[in-house]
Amino acid sequence: MLQKTSHFMRQANFIDGAWVNADSGQTIDVVNPASGQTIGTVPKAGTAETRRAIEAAEAAFHSWKKTSADHRAKLLRKLHDAIMDNQDALAELLVMEQGKSFAEAKGEVGMSAAYILWYAEEGRRVYGDVVPSPWADRRILVTKEPVGVIGAITPWNFPSSMLARKLGPALASGCTAVAKPASQTPYSGLAWGVLCEEVGFPKGVVNIVTGAASEIGDELCQNPLVRKITFTGSTEVGKTLIEKTAGTVKKVSMELGGNAPFLVFDDADIDRAVEGAIAAKYRNSGQTCVCTNRFFVQAGVYEAFVEKLSAAAERLKVGPGLEEGTQQGPLIDEKAVEKVEELIADATSKGGKLAAGGSRHALGGTFFQPTVISNATPDMRFMKEEIFGPVAPVFRFETEEEAVKLANDTVFGLACYFYTGDLGRAFRVMEGLKYGLVGVNEGIITTVEAPFGGLKESGLGKEGGHQGIEDYLDTKYVCIGGLGL
Ligand code: ADP
Repeated sequence: MLQKTSHFMRQANFIDGAWVNADSGQTIDVVNPASGQTIGTVPKAGTAETRRAIEAAEAAFHSWKKTSADHRAKLLRKLHDAIMDNQDALAELLVMEQGKSFAEAKGEVGMSAAYILWYAEEGRRVYGDVVPSPWADRRILVTKEPVGVIGAITPWNFPSSMLARKLGPALASGCTAVAKPASQTPYSGLAWGVLCEEVGFPKGVVNIVTGAASEIGDELCQNPLVRKITFTGSTEVGKTLIEKTAGTVKKVSMELGGNAPFLVFDDADIDRAVEGAIAAKYRNSGQTCVCTNRFFVQAGVYEAFVEKLSAAAERLKVGPGLEEGTQQGPLIDEKAVEKVEELIADATSKGGKLAAGGSRHALGGTFFQPTVISNATPDMRFMKEEIFGPVAPVFRFETEEEAVKLANDTVFGLACYFYTGDLGRAFRVMEGLKYGLVGVNEGIITTVEAPFGGLKESGLGKEGGHQGIEDYLDTKYVCIGGLGL
């Protein structure tokens, strides 16, 4: 391990500017998914510690909200620089707890820095309005203010950048935060505490607690001092959090599950589609909410696409994330592998054919072969369920209408992709797909400049773009009367 990596690997919680253990002294083990070895522990905090973190964030909010946007931007720029100066160490830590390849981890850390820089800039452009008044002696102002303390709950698949998307707009707008990283990957979350402390954010502005998800989550959702919950994770947990925040009517931003379709039309550039498919399917071993869940390929190019995709999938180098040349790491845990096995067994029992992979990898543990299943049909479970693994089911379709209908036949609406060489079709299909993110002839589209967010049961709110800061702001209407004009 790099010396700097151990500096960022904090086995304590960050509350009110201090590194502390759980009141009970209890801990949770953190396991490296590539080796199955425990790499350390983190505190198993609960209600009391979370409440203290919220109170610290509330106390800090009173002065933090009064700082200028320019001051906050300067600190955020320092935070950006600190991340980039330590990109390798932060990436190594990420690989150790999450499993993805070092190249992907470095990319994620770079993305985290990019979100921080973007919101350093956006925070200085939080404009209000002066609205023409219907009264001669009154003026109408519309101002924007930070909502207050925010609670941020993040998942294990992007433990660094999912927090960046939340801390960036929160800190830029003048909010303070209590974050809860996923228990499988807490160190990349806790590293934000180290970074924020070192660049000089005042104590209490950022707090990070690890531990019992439902206890921490309940306190964040129910404590009246918290004014917003921002969550990235499963639709199931997201729905619970929305219900729990109802009692205190908080703002919520929800980045939930997906079931991304990837459509390939007869007129598409097949090689380009295969390249996009590999990126949109096997990145992070298929464990992203925007990963393709269902490929729909038009009959005329079906066989060619399956053949080329299978060949490309078989070429992917599977291995530990820190090993040179690795393209696909292990899955996060045994449960994830079992789910993938179940879905494959369901498909093959219903006529699906293994065109590539299909089993656990020879490396053992939670490594799994990049898999392609042809002859997929809508009665298979992955038509409705998120796979979250390196499995590509390929369905066949005949007409454009049929493809759009199949693609939309899900409660989810996060990302979708389609490949065509026909401009008219590109617009028809883009307008027909009920998804928050659409890649046309592109398989990887996330960038800080654009609003990321799902429709339907995939979520509420946007992260990134100028839209991403809005959810951290309250709009206030001020009427100034008696001007005697
Ligand atoms: P995933 O399938 O990606 O693990 P989850 O929705 O289970 O997605 O987890 C995402 C985040 O939500 C993690 O930080 C997890 O600990 C947290 N979480 C899980 N259950 C709850 C809950 N009941 N209340 C609050 N947070 C929760």
